[in-house]
Amino acid sequence: MKDNKKPRNDELLAEQASEQGLDITVDSNAKHRARITRFGHLRQQSKEMSNWLYVQNDECVALDTPMGHVMSIRFSHYADKLASCANFLLFRHYYTLDKYKLAGLRTCKKHMLCPFCSAIRASKQATAYHEKMLVILKENPNLKPVFMTLTVKNGDDLKERFNHLKNSFKTLQTARRKWLKRGNGHNELCKAHGIVFAYEITNKGKGWHPHLHMVMLVDDWIDVDKLSDEWKAITGDSHVVDVRRVRPTKIDVDTAQGKEQKEDYSDGFMEVFKYAMKFTELTHYQIWIAHETLSPTGRLTRLQGSIGLFRGVQVPDAMTDDLITDNAPFMLILYKFMKGAGYSVQFMQDMPLGEVSTENLGAALTEYNSSGEVLPSYIIVTDPDTGETSKVLEADHV
Ligand SMILES: [Zn+2]
Repeated sequence: MKDNKKPRNDELLAEQASEQGLDITVDSNAKHRARITRFGHLRQQSKEMSNWLYVQNDECVALDTPMGHVMSIRFSHYADKLASCANFLLFRHYYTLDKYKLAGLRTCKKHMLCPFCSAIRASKQATAYHEKMLVILKENPNLKPVFMTLTVKNGDDLKERFNHLKNSFKTLQTARRKWLKRGNGHNELCKAHGIVFAYEITNKGKGWHPHLHMVMLVDDWIDVDKLSDEWKAITGDSHVVDVRRVRPTKIDVDTAQGKEQKEDYSDGFMEVFKYAMKFTELTHYQIWIAHETLSPTGRLTRLQGSIGLFRGVQVPDAMTDDLITDNAPFMLILYKFMKGAGYSVQFMQDMPLGEVSTENLGAALTEYNSSGEVLPSYIIVTDPDTGETSKVLEADHV
């Protein structure tokens, strides 16, 4: 499992921190810029996937057959969804607190096709499970976090390989449950008191390679050789397992009392959830095949889950950041995605002075978004005599 032995990489950490909006003490402007750049790359990938789907749609239409017609509806449906994802990002810059927060965006939520949505969800999941683990570890100081990977042999039939992996993992879990109930038939998984897992699908030209990543909280270190034997006995075709200790890094965080050092295990969780699909390593065709195979009825096959102490974690549905709740003033910044050029600022509005509220700007955004127009830049002009403010188009203001 070479994939899992990536050395710790500062660039990756900065990226993750920026995705998760973690309050790591770094220059907030630099962090914000890095995040905008990162979002731009992800949005560009979604755009390319969407373009590919439109091409498939055109080809199906050209076939002019009943099947071609059915497929074209499916292709154009997803192409449209991805094309309208995250075209605008609305940020709040709380300048007195020096913090940027993503406050509004419209997304497609097609996690298996859209790299943008997949990345945001992955970081939300990683953050939620990381927080939960810190609580569990406080209550259960005897537990140790480990990162585990289970694989099955590659194959040409994704569905068959995926089900083989899923069922093999179920067998391992069933044995653990029996041991918990009756105390016999111990396996290495029985050392885990909490497990959070996610499937990942890759294909590097030698067939489909579904595998499972998980973070487990164990009361004793996993015996890798034993686990490997147990896994081989279940799968019949794979003994490849990988277990590593998840080591925390110390990070500086801002708290009400000032800067504080905290232990952070986010890396392990980012590895689990990032991503169900290795978008950059799969072709558009392969991404589509995986989507069609694993969500045949439109309802996604569950690609992640939790066991024991990790159960019941609520991952927020919102794609936005948690906003700052006190009445700190902020500048609204609206970014628009420009094909091939990432996000650029369309609009800025200082909230305490202007007449645009978050509410009405949201409505205006939705309108503009669906009209396909380019959003004009308004600026606020204050009359020097009366002190009254008015909103004018930047182009009209001299
Ligand atoms: Zn999306």
